[in-house]
Amino acid sequence: GVSVGKVLGTMMQMGLQGGVNINSQLDLESAEAVAAEMELTIELKATETLEDSLISELEDREDGAETLVPRAPIVTFLGHVDHGKTSLLDYLIGINVVKGEAGGITQHIRAYEIDKDGRKITFVDTPGHEAFTEMRARGANVTDIAVLVVAADDGIMPQTAEAISHAKAAGVPIVVALNKIDLEGVDENRILTQLTEHQLTPSEWGGDVEVVRTSATKGTGMDELLETLLTVAELNEYSANPNREAMGVCIESEQQGDRGVVAKLVVQNGTLRVGDVLVCGSAHGRVRAMNSTLNNEPMTEAGPSTPVSVMGFDEAPGAGERFHVLDDITKAREIAQTRAHASSQESLSGISTKVSFENFQEMLQDGTIGVQADKVRLNMIIRADVKGSLEAIEKELTKLDHPEVEIRVLQKSVGGVSLADVTLASASDAVIAAFNVVPDEQARAMADERGVEIRRYSVIYKLTDEIREMIEGRLKPEE
Ligand code: GDP
Repeated sequence: GVSVGKVLGTMMQMGLQGGVNINSQLDLESAEAVAAEMELTIELKATETLEDSLISELEDREDGAETLVPRAPIVTFLGHVDHGKTSLLDYLIGINVVKGEAGGITQHIRAYEIDKDGRKITFVDTPGHEAFTEMRARGANVTDIAVLVVAADDGIMPQTAEAISHAKAAGVPIVVALNKIDLEGVDENRILTQLTEHQLTPSEWGGDVEVVRTSATKGTGMDELLETLLTVAELNEYSANPNREAMGVCIESEQQGDRGVVAKLVVQNGTLRVGDVLVCGSAHGRVRAMNSTLNNEPMTEAGPSTPVSVMGFDEAPGAGERFHVLDDITKAREIAQTRAHASSQESLSGISTKVSFENFQEMLQDGTIGVQADKVRLNMIIRADVKGSLEAIEKELTKLDHPEVEIRVLQKSVGGVSLADVTLASASDAVIAAFNVVPDEQARAMADERGVEIRRYSVIYKLTDEIREMIEGRLKPEE
């Protein structure tokens, strides 16, 4: 209740004026002295951030049993590449994605809600390629039930075994889809034996794992698969409180030209509505519009277990990031900024430094960045269409370990290659990798002028393969 002017005036009288202004921080001792001079008492508060207090209150608040209602199970397909995860989901939702994909690899996380005779099931489709292990692990966190897809002609493969561990680590029930059952000469017993060896004993052999024979191409076993999932859901009594602030997980986000950021969210508790204030990682905003992930129909609200495309974030939130609804946009902004600040502090000290042009220049000048005598450094700038791809690319790059080469990602972000990227690349001798995005006209012209290399990719392993070659090309000759 005391004006700032009065506080500053008192401080000047006390001789504290040297460099003291409205933004100064006082240590406790000076603060106490000033307060004593003004005959005020100081009350100390723990320096809890707004994030700590608000978000943990939301996360920790228990919903009373009387507030809970049943919700749809969230189901994830897991399994080895090419065993039919995408085809199964395509069949169930009635669309075809398999054919349109670059390299035949699922590179986006999809989420759809389907209706089986009035009972709902939400499917979250995690990408099958090895580069997405990270996201798959996160995908399992939103999952209630894992459908382990095993191709009858192939059996349990390395990624199947990995998927089993993910599902087990997440503590979710597993239903096996023994897929491609239409193929001739499949040996079902061999697969049931393999499953048993992985501690998944089929119910027909006295265990507790349901094995459903399916054919995604012929549609065999689809009803049975859905019925099995609904039975497992009933047994587990999944529930949530629709009458509270929504919270859940962002599974993917991208920058879509004029529409701005479109984030795919799965609501886990509460109900999300148009107009709600959201914070998700270092992104925040107000829900401007929501659309069904299945047919893009506009939605006004999304209850528990509903996947929804949301517009209104100021930037693309990361895959796997949790979102919360707050009552105040100012608080959301503050939390987002605190997080952005914390993560930039973190990344400045890490290997995958994300630097702005200015501080990059600074680092160049003081020698923090530069070619070291005994190591070649490959600087990279990565641009991609979705955040999930960025994370996957970075993960793959960290695997390209070489004693004489260090890969440094100078900048990574969602969106097309910009002029600023080219400027940064030319200043730092970096290569720009553009994943499913293109450079704009200005950027292209500048790149030509300055001899900056922009490499375009649509499949992650092509990118990493080329980088590997590039690394090898830059190596010092053997002595
Ligand atoms: P994912 O990598 O696990 O998502 O596998 P996909 O759904 O992309 O399927 C890989 C290939 O197997 C595609 O060519 C599909 O057409 C084929 N496929 C998927 N399910 C079946 C099935 O039930 N029977 C047969 N014969 N082929 C299938």
